[in-house]
Amino acid sequence: MSYKIYVDRDECIGAGTCVECAPNVFVLDDENIAIVFDAAGDSDEDVLAAAQDCPQQCVYLFNDAEEQVYP
Ligand code: SF4
Repeated sequence: MSYKIYVDRDECIGAGTCVECAPNVFVLDDENIAIVFDAAGDSDEDVLAAAQDCPQQCVYLFNDAEEQVYP
């Protein structure tokens, strides 16, 4: 399963932790805000770690049933 991923751009501070955890999923755009480049680019474990380590807790994960998994 790949999580469906939503980043709250209003909350993101461009810390880049998500990019470090899952570099094939997240990139920083030209406003230094995280965007999802490829939701299936890294393992579920890495994506979950990215969400858990985000200092703003602004990475939201959903499963295939559209249920919020994190936070
Ligand atoms: S870890 Fe959170 S605050 Fe930092 S760039 Fe990623 S989404 Fe934004």
